[in-house]
Amino acid sequence: MAVTIKSEREIECMRIAGRYLSEVLDELLDSVRVGWTTAQVDKLGEKLIRSKGCIPNFLHYEGFPASFCVSLNDEVVHGIPSKKRVIRDGDLLSIDGGLIYQGYHSDAARSIILGNADPKLQQLVDVTKESFFRGIAMAKEGNHLYDISNAIADYVEPYGYGIVQDLTGHGIGRNLHEDPMIPNFRQRSRGIRLRKGMTLAVEPMIALGTWEVDFNEDNGWTVTTKDHSPSAHYENTILITDGEPEILSLPGGKH
Ligand code: MG
Repeated sequence: MAVTIKSEREIECMRIAGRYLSEVLDELLDSVRVGWTTAQVDKLGEKLIRSKGCIPNFLHYEGFPASFCVSLNDEVVHGIPSKKRVIRDGDLLSIDGGLIYQGYHSDAARSIILGNADPKLQQLVDVTKESFFRGIAMAKEGNHLYDISNAIADYVEPYGYGIVQDLTGHGIGRNLHEDPMIPNFRQRSRGIRLRKGMTLAVEPMIALGTWEVDFNEDNGWTVTTKDHSPSAHYENTILITDGEPEILSLPGGKH
């Protein structure tokens, strides 16, 4: 699939999809508490998406059974919400989801620590979030795709964290996943040239220990770190412009 360039009309739909998603995630993060199950996070998130007249794009995507991926601790991504999974004090919680507005997708993820945060975990969460901003600082017309990847790696590597390689960011638009794939680790080539009107989901996944992951073969989805070290995830849908990128799923700034 070729990388698509969106028209002004398409971009306007994606702006709304992004803004709605940022509002849903803000409300979810404000609401979730120690003692909630991961299924409760998903149910509230789905309700918030539907209250905006939108459709959760993760629900039934390749058979995924929920509207949000809710991942705890050593789960990197694709945690399946469960009524049996209770969020405990000090857990690292990652929430990843998206929605469709008038045929256009948004996709974003946030990680937080519930209750008392271990400073080592808090640093992992903070560095993961900042690595997104370092990456997208390179995301403008005329630069190359892997300038984003290398900027993320430049920032994360000195911490000695593991940068997950088996999963990447992606193009987004009329489909949740479009070309190109956007790695978060160092690349030897430059990748495609970035052009105004491209919309991308940039999403570093960073682990306290090894970058290596296992795919859960029982549920077919959940990705965990091989050494069971905690992992954080931060993602937004962005628009490439001839200047700074527009962060569609974070219209208010850095929160
Ligand atoms: Mg994504």
